[in-house]
Amino acid sequence: RFAELASLADLPTETADGQRVHLLGNIEFPAEVDACRERGADGIGLFRTEFFYLGTDGPPGELQQAEAYAAVIRALEGRPVTIRTLDLGSDKAEPGRAQHVEPNPALGLRSLRRSLREPNTFRTQLRAILRAAAETGGDVRVMFPLVTTLDEFRQAKATLRDVAAELQAEGIPARADLPVGAMIEVPAAAIMSDLLAKEVDFFSIGTNDLTQYILAADRTNETVADLYTSADPAVIRLIDMVARAAGDAGIEVTVCGSIAGEPLYTMLLLGLGIHRLSTPPHQLPEVKRVIRAARSEEARALAREALRCGSAAEVLDLLQRALRRAL
Ligand code: PEP
Ligand code: MG
Repeated sequence: RFAELASLADLPTETADGQRVHLLGNIEFPAEVDACRERGADGIGLFRTEFFYLGTDGPPGELQQAEAYAAVIRALEGRPVTIRTLDLGSDKAEPGRAQHVEPNPALGLRSLRRSLREPNTFRTQLRAILRAAAETGGDVRVMFPLVTTLDEFRQAKATLRDVAAELQAEGIPARADLPVGAMIEVPAAAIMSDLLAKEVDFFSIGTNDLTQYILAADRTNETVADLYTSADPAVIRLIDMVARAAGDAGIEVTVCGSIAGEPLYTMLLLGLGIHRLSTPPHQLPEVKRVIRAARSEEARALAREALRCGSAAEVLDLLQRALRRAL
């Protein structure tokens, strides 16, 4: 079984009927890029950058950050990497900063909201990304987390453009043409996805947070863990809405939340029209196995059925039966 999964790395990532799927890696530390490469990942779909804040001395400076990005970009040898800007706060704590000073941190000043409020930290990170992209010439994309409103995305993108101009004025090589995307992990952004799709280069659906906010169930709170499931039909309907908005606008849509790495959900996501999945490296072989066994027509029928379900239990039952049939 282990040998079978290992031998998958070199096989094409496509369904049994030949639909190409992009299978990407999620990483939290630069060194994990090797684990993704070994398992045949098509690139990095989510490079979380909170690791810079795990030390107690505060974040590293621009050059040190640029070096870390450049190392990952080089290791990918031309494959794409989507770098997510800082997503601090709420479930992502940092040492040395008082936590829970807000009554509802998940609804508070976290993630992109905080980056926009602390422009110096944000600009340093953006400068480092643009420098690393220029230095390596790699396929780099920038992604903003927790985008809630169109205005917020515009403001973040304007900051990126401003930083690029600033570097140019300083005579420092920087790339001004990088694709810029939004994570869809707040219901407001999903609901507005038809309009947002006209302004972004790509979407990446963060189902971990999206599930938490749709169901009003804290992703870290065990007492409501029974409610917190991405199999809830409300979550599936909103993913469907975002996938359609992306399809209509002709932009790429990836799922990078943890369901992208759960074989149980693979066929459902394919059936919803999502052909880009980003998952932790150890999940890549299992997901690839399901992709190669899946048939597009059956995946679409599964998605149609799931969209008609009234409960998470019904959806899970459907998914389990479909997975057994496929493998
Ligand atoms: C998500 O919310 O689904 C996501 C991918 O981001 P994180 O888990 O880092 O919040
Ligand atoms: Mg998230």
